Amino acid sequence: MNCSIDCELFLFLFNISVMYCSSECKRAAWEQYHRVLCLGPSREDPDHPINKLQDAWRNVHYPPETSSIMLMARMVAVVKQAQDKGRWQRLFSHFCSRAANEQEEIAHKLLGEKFQGQLALLRNLLTTALYDDYLSQWFTPEGFRSLFALVGTNGQGIGTSSLSQWVHACDALELPHQQREQLDAFIDQLYKDIDKETGDFLNCEGSGLYLLQSSCNHSCVPNAEASFPDNNFLLHLSALSDIRPGEEICISYLDCCQRDRSRHSRHKILRENYLFVCSCQKCMSQMDDADVTSEDEDEGEGETEGDDMEDEMTDV
Ligand SMILES: [Zn+2]
Ligand SMILES: [Zn+2]
Ligand SMILES: [Zn+2]
Repeated sequence: MNCSIDCELFLFLFNISVMYCSSECKRAAWEQYHRVLCLGPSREDPDHPINKLQDAWRNVHYPPETSSIMLMARMVAVVKQAQDKGRWQRLFSHFCSRAANEQEEIAHKLLGEKFQGQLALLRNLLTTALYDDYLSQWFTPEGFRSLFALVGTNGQGIGTSSLSQWVHACDALELPHQQREQLDAFIDQLYKDIDKETGDFLNCEGSGLYLLQSSCNHSCVPNAEASFPDNNFLLHLSALSDIRPGEEICISYLDCCQRDRSRHSRHKILRENYLFVCSCQKCMSQMDDADVTSEDEDEGEGETEGDDMEDEMTDV
């Protein structure tokens, strides 16, 4: 069985220097947020506050995923333009909020060690570009950090080209530091070269917030997965196995290779990247396993996945 649910999409971003597939999309964007974010003739002006914000983000973050800060900008713009501002604020508040120390950790994780001081810079630039009295809370140090954590933990990467799928696969590789830097630099250059030739349309990549998908917990034996089969921003949540009424729908934050690793290795990845300890059915059943990392294990030792997981609820 493979039933698809189109998750309701609230926000998505492909690229801020915008091209639209149709005049309907263009009008919809204009009415929802683009009036606030429109660069108009200032598109090439490096001193335009929104360009400065994007530049700062590019400098602290690996380029193909430039979207997070602009996703935040778009959230601000949507509320600024909205008639019913409260409705949008309530909507955003559905995405889980974290404790202050967790938000701090998430922000550092997203920015990397080198850039721990950059949160204040980004906040200043966002304030200059888009400050709004109604949203004053989002521009305080705490509010900004919490928005940053919200986007960082709930933002779903959207990549619809085979190139971006390849880039995501590269991102997932575990490489020695130097090789990682070389690969990142290569990809960076590749994007620049392609951009020169084709413009932005190839780079159908961004991130969005999906309310239903973000309410799915993680499991190391997921019964559903998110994908973008239509080559656009519509997220499909598809069942990987039969799901009984009342059974929790879980996706996996780990790719399939990572899921085959030992409990110890999975927990390390989840703890470091998503800040939680997994207690899914698989993890519970491996509770007594020795704390070995997968590298030390025999290849192909992965257990067969039990199909009697229906009654188990995952609680992460
Ligand atoms: Zn469109
Ligand atoms: Zn515009
Ligand atoms: Zn687990």
